[in-house]
Amino acid sequence: MSEPFDAVDVIRAKRDGHRLTDAQLDWIIDAYVRGVVAEEQMAALAMAILFNGMREDELARWTAAMIASGERLDLSCAGRPTADKHSTGGVGDKITLPLAPLVAACGVAVPQLSGRGLGHTGGTLDKLESIPGWRASLSAAEFMTQLREVGAVVCAAGPGLAPADRKLYALRDVTGTVESIPLIASSIMSKKIAEGSASLVLDVKVGTGAFMKTVPDARRLAETMVALGTAHGVRTVALLTDMSTPLGRTAGNALEVAESLEVLGGGGPADVVELTLVLAREMLADVGDADPADALTDGRAMDVWRAMIRAQGGDPLAPLPLARERHVLTAPVAGVLTRLDAYAVGVAAWRLGAGRARQQDRVSAAAGVVLLAKPGEAVRVGQPLLELHTEDESRFARALDALADGYDISVSEVRATDIRVPDPGLTPPRLIIDRIG
Ligand code: URA
Repeated sequence: MSEPFDAVDVIRAKRDGHRLTDAQLDWIIDAYVRGVVAEEQMAALAMAILFNGMREDELARWTAAMIASGERLDLSCAGRPTADKHSTGGVGDKITLPLAPLVAACGVAVPQLSGRGLGHTGGTLDKLESIPGWRASLSAAEFMTQLREVGAVVCAAGPGLAPADRKLYALRDVTGTVESIPLIASSIMSKKIAEGSASLVLDVKVGTGAFMKTVPDARRLAETMVALGTAHGVRTVALLTDMSTPLGRTAGNALEVAESLEVLGGGGPADVVELTLVLAREMLADVGDADPADALTDGRAMDVWRAMIRAQGGDPLAPLPLARERHVLTAPVAGVLTRLDAYAVGVAAWRLGAGRARQQDRVSAAAGVVLLAKPGEAVRVGQPLLELHTEDESRFARALDALADGYDISVSEVRATDIRVPDPGLTPPRLIIDRIG
């Protein structure tokens, strides 16, 4: 069969800053999935997009073509409104774990197709897999039944959902073309729109531990994704939230499940509780004004959690894996902890075994970092700051290297110019920075 376009012409057009036509956009995505456009041609096009960007209508068509490369789920079987949340990824970001059962307990079904962690950011599926017996892969029928009966499903996306993104994301990962706002926005939104949820809340992370390091970049990404979701009939809002320091007090798979259980039990760290409730209120916006905080304290969210874990083969009451080896990092001086860097903690947890460098690597369920102090807290000399957990003690040295410049303690008495002057605002940045949509 002859093809209507030549990939080289499409690449040249984008390289020279032109808007690709709708027909070119539809064809290039489809031809790439069919294997007619070669990986090196798509890599060149992705690089041209990274440098030259895409116009709003061009990106909308590109995203529509990515959605059309696979199936779009019909969630009418859920029997109630549906809402999902997507985070652009951070350190200690376990919010999906308490959020999905909480929202389901308040009457809205949550169909969440999640991913695994790569690099220093954790993945929801890796966290849940630390629960004995829990499995990430469900058939379409199992997915629909669980959504209807339990109200919350967190599982791996099947191969039929936005296959163009599956192929393109793997290519971008190895060709230096991840960091492009149109490519990130279309990648995330093609999967989320294909998933079929009626409403979507985006948690766009900003800071050292996030993709987006600055608020203006995060705002541009958020606005682009909100526009794509809205254009496809999905009620979409985005929150910009701080990722300069890890969320909560744990980074690592089983450690984060344990912390999520504290939140589901009505306790847990204040920042995790706050973000869970803010996101839950957004997801519940269409179904009246019952306060989701009540469902954390009265056990309803915990009941849904247990049902959700059991439905996927897990034992919610089984003990979680614990690390054999531990190492405590203590405060070298007394003062106020003014910075505990999300990226440094994420890399340390990764080096301890919690993360993977390649998609096929195995992760350690027990490895990670426990934050014994958070920015804004006063510490004494020798007070434990961080507890490192691993299965393999030879991993401690490189994890400690990652943390060496990862924190600042402002001494209470500033004696000399070599000591960093305490930040006048010793409190950490606001957790919720902005709302878009
Ligand atoms: N997550 C995605 O799914 N895609 C991107 O491009 C970046 C983060």
